[in-house]
Amino acid sequence: MINRRLFIKAGALGASALSVVGLASARNEKSRSNARTNKPIVIATWDFGVAANQAAWTVLASGGRALDAVETGVRVPEADLANPTVGKGGYPDRDGHVTLDACIMDDKGNCGSVAALEHIAHPISVARLVMEKTPHVMLVGEGALQFALANGFEQEKLLTPESEAAWKAWLKKGKYEPVINIENKSFTSDRLPGNRYNHDTIGMLALDSSGNLSGACTTSGMAFKMRGRVGDSPIIGAGLYVDNEVGGATATGVGEEVIRTVGSFLVVELMRQGMSPREACREAVVRIIKKKPETAKKIQVGFLALNKQGEYGAFSLQKGFSYAVCDAKQQDLLMDGESVY
Ligand code: ASP
Repeated sequence: MINRRLFIKAGALGASALSVVGLASARNEKSRSNARTNKPIVIATWDFGVAANQAAWTVLASGGRALDAVETGVRVPEADLANPTVGKGGYPDRDGHVTLDACIMDDKGNCGSVAALEHIAHPISVARLVMEKTPHVMLVGEGALQFALANGFEQEKLLTPESEAAWKAWLKKGKYEPVINIENKSFTSDRLPGNRYNHDTIGMLALDSSGNLSGACTTSGMAFKMRGRVGDSPIIGAGLYVDNEVGGATATGVGEEVIRTVGSFLVVELMRQGMSPREACREAVVRIIKKKPETAKKIQVGFLALNKQGEYGAFSLQKGFSYAVCDAKQQDLLMDGESVY
């Protein structure tokens, strides 16, 4: 059963016809599949996807490219100091270093990625430059930083006082323990130091008015991870995959399990074989359970997908995976994806 929650801010987006979608979402999704392509549209993971989508929508609504929309969109949580799982406000690794991972993919199969990047607030924009200015797909660590600085990015101290306090509190026990759905534990009003808010990623997928798809994914990864740990988020095929003939998918949650199953690529391939976005996300979740049944009970992984017709769907291991949708009919729509457990 799907539960949907709605946040509607018509004024902010100037939407003319906002429709309140109720609990009959499965029926809606079905009827959508028979309708003509729903474009432009942008979808993104978690509650913070709402604000990110708003920024992306300004690009899409004026006829802009999906690629520009997703980069613009995910820069919003990257800049949000109150967000401890993405960008500037991200929690550090166990040695106190904030290391960021991001990737981007366009409608032509071009992609760029950075991993374990330090001191740069917008890894997604560095990833885009890797895609556009280098013969490579991925730059990591020192090399990624060097590339960013050579291209005019500003070097910043990323460890905020809040993140530092959280890290110091965590050090008292020093136990690495991913928490399920930390993003939905209201980190702005109820933020406590320690091990509470320790992962979640913004993954965003957009279909523009020309019918082209792009995606972006950016995170600070698992808080208090080992130095040098890289998750799924900057790995093309794991945290993000886009095929302009079929659709796109992105992942959030414990990245090790997403990498093991090449999750986002799998979702796109399942859509290619005829599955709906929701069915494909579900099957990718089931693969994780099959591979690691005991681990799967204790962790969160969620997939989000958008196909070439503008249909979307999500599925997660545990309840509580939210995602945001923005198109001409529905602005600032926040939904709960279905879950296995
Ligand atoms: N997938 C991210 C990682 O493993 C974290 C998350 O989305 O919760 O780094």
